[in-house]
Amino acid sequence: MSHFSDLGLPEVLLRALKHEGYEIPTPIQAKSIPSLLQGRDLLGIAQTGTGKTAAFALPIISRLIADRQHAGPRQVRALILAPTRELATQIAESFKAYGRFAKISVAVVIGGVSMGAQVQAMAGGLDVLVATPGRLLDHMQQGKVKLDMTEIVVLDEADHMLDLGFIVPIRQILAKTPKNRQSLFFSATMPKEIAGLANDMLRDPVQVAVTPAATTVERIAQEVFFCDSAAKRDLLVEILKDPKHKRTLVFTRTKRGADKVAQHLAANGITADAIHGNKSQGQRQRALDGFKSGRTRVLVATDIAARGIDVDGVSHVVNYELPEVPEAYVHRIGRTARAGADGAAVSFCDNSERNLLRAIEKTTRQSIPSVDRRGSRPEASVAAKPQPNQKTPYNDERRGRNNRNQPGRGGDQRKPEQRKAGGHKAGPRPGGEAGRSASAKPQQRSGQRPAARPQ
Ligand code: AMP
Repeated sequence: MSHFSDLGLPEVLLRALKHEGYEIPTPIQAKSIPSLLQGRDLLGIAQTGTGKTAAFALPIISRLIADRQHAGPRQVRALILAPTRELATQIAESFKAYGRFAKISVAVVIGGVSMGAQVQAMAGGLDVLVATPGRLLDHMQQGKVKLDMTEIVVLDEADHMLDLGFIVPIRQILAKTPKNRQSLFFSATMPKEIAGLANDMLRDPVQVAVTPAATTVERIAQEVFFCDSAAKRDLLVEILKDPKHKRTLVFTRTKRGADKVAQHLAANGITADAIHGNKSQGQRQRALDGFKSGRTRVLVATDIAARGIDVDGVSHVVNYELPEVPEAYVHRIGRTARAGADGAAVSFCDNSERNLLRAIEKTTRQSIPSVDRRGSRPEASVAAKPQPNQKTPYNDERRGRNNRNQPGRGGDQRKPEQRKAGGHKAGPRPGGEAGRSASAKPQQRSGQRPAARPQ
């Protein structure tokens, strides 16, 4: 399939896609849309970044408008369940964007915000409701929403639902929906419990699997900095001075770590904000909006908070700390290579993290080029003042005004051509064996000691 018009979508949707600038369906869209338009169930093995939202949203809108009817009071025609508030909000935004000419009603129901407005949005009935399971159950138990006439149900990122303990609430929700509904199930991985849920939920599903993790990874230029743990924050300030870091997502392992890193960046004149589970929904949304609009150059996130964050044009991902689970590395760096774009990812690895790096290299079947910065002191930066209650926003460029480092120092001190050679893509190894490839030799930076790869 080379064009959306080949997939059988109505004109109002084709117009919206043109408006979005989409020209060619992604593989999951090309494979799923025709069957979904026929009303089939679907099991999609796909992660975020593959275009899966449009793969389900377009046929759903199409089916809803082909059989236009007003949902009864508190009824919902299509229900989408997502694990995180951010993902739910983004899915709802996608429905609104794709449905902009189709006149459909869309609402989102998530925790962390007041229930009143949500009750009101559902009162008259909805074409599409996007919800996180916990809050939806609350509304169901209070009789504010009914699912007994729901025609289509989508479960998105099912494996993350499992991680977050949502499997029981999901089963409770599904039990209230009609048996003859159309069901769609998306998951990046298929652990046993998830396969069981899919089996119970779906009837004779079409199966579509796209983009195995390694394919995304190959498009991303990756680099590891071996460094001392205490030097990480200054190293981060140093690399962020490169103007190529237009929109950078930094990952930390802990919520507190995310706050501290964001504060340190702000103290050094870099606009930054943090997003994690201890922030209110309003704070999270503001942080995300600031990052999307470009007001904030750096967003520091924990893995859970970053799930489902869909921001176009993330130029770099920095793993300030390596994740405990190798698959999380793939999820993290995939934030920079959305919908076919290339991206760059930098990882900091201190002595205690070498095993994690090895596990990542094994899982992704590549050897990541490295630079040894152990023992070298990055240019000193300004220590962030403690901000106990964090009421002061730390994404204010002016705060670091007097604290800026000398211009022209720090950053990647290699010559441009060296830098290019060092910013190469990490190719997969022939045969997929863990081992070292020619492209994976440690890079040497001028003025620094040769990189010895730690074992
Ligand atoms: P998703 O996997 O649904 O989170 O989508 C990843 C990104 O790809 C989003 O930013 C979408 O806006 C974008 N996208 C989805 N489908 C297409 C397409 N056919 N052409 C270009 N961009 C797309």
